[in-house]
Amino acid sequence: MTRSTGPSDTTRDTTRDTTRDSTGTSAGVQTCWELAVSLAAHHAPHATRSDPRSGDIFQVSTVRALLAGSFDGDTPYAEVMCHGDFGVGTFNALDGEMAALDGHFYHLHSDGSVGDVDPTDLTPFAAVCFFRADAEIDIESPCSRSDLFALVDATIPSSDTFYAIRIDGLFGAVTTRTAVRQTRPYPRLVETTKSQVERTVQDVRGTVVGFRSPQYAQGKTVAGYHLHFLDDSRTLGGHVLDFQLERGRITLDQNTDLHLQLATTAGPLGVDMVAADVAAEIERSENSTRAAPNRTSHAP
Ligand SMILES: [Zn+2]
Repeated sequence: MTRSTGPSDTTRDTTRDTTRDSTGTSAGVQTCWELAVSLAAHHAPHATRSDPRSGDIFQVSTVRALLAGSFDGDTPYAEVMCHGDFGVGTFNALDGEMAALDGHFYHLHSDGSVGDVDPTDLTPFAAVCFFRADAEIDIESPCSRSDLFALVDATIPSSDTFYAIRIDGLFGAVTTRTAVRQTRPYPRLVETTKSQVERTVQDVRGTVVGFRSPQYAQGKTVAGYHLHFLDDSRTLGGHVLDFQLERGRITLDQNTDLHLQLATTAGPLGVDMVAADVAAEIERSENSTRAAPNRTSHAP
């Protein structure tokens, strides 16, 4: 069974589809998730829950600590790589972004270049899993970021579990930011957005990788969507601020376990955060563009 949809189908996708068996009697209803699962099984028959490593997210530190300026961790990427083949993260001193895809870990530098992650690099924040497709949704007409999020929100069976999300396809435009290496004394994360490098690339094929997390996880991680982009040539990418998907495929991996590994070194964990509006700072740090002057726009 295949399932194809576009943003105009979003409303319909929130409804249930009735199917009938060979006798013509009603076989009950299939949710969007069940239909998407059928598509995943069709395209990835070996991707099953039987893999003992599936269903777990391994995360280094918390976004709350990152917000407070805890930019130096003590976990090497060599250790992170043991816990997943897919995910997002950053590096000590907030030196760029990390995107992991198909077992390859990429370092997205603020100068726009992309390199391999050095396993000895330390990270103050990273989240990875062994990605196994649970559900797939084909997109065959232009779909904005907000439409795509609405479609995924309407498809998943529970908003209280975590999902690794992968989007492969042709993007009409992708706007990313890349963190710039910071120097001590570190500012709060929200202050670093003033120097972040933003780029918009157009008509680019690539992959978005990341997670959709429940609202109750705000502060431990980013509630909602936290996505990084990598183009097919592996020459550009960054933390996703916005995109337009022309056509492609969304693949979802439902995860029910979150393993947090906290830093043992002293840092501003939680300091100054009790009274802070964590959600507002996350929104400003993770989803906001900076002022226009440093914004560049170019085709790949
Ligand atoms: Zn990010």
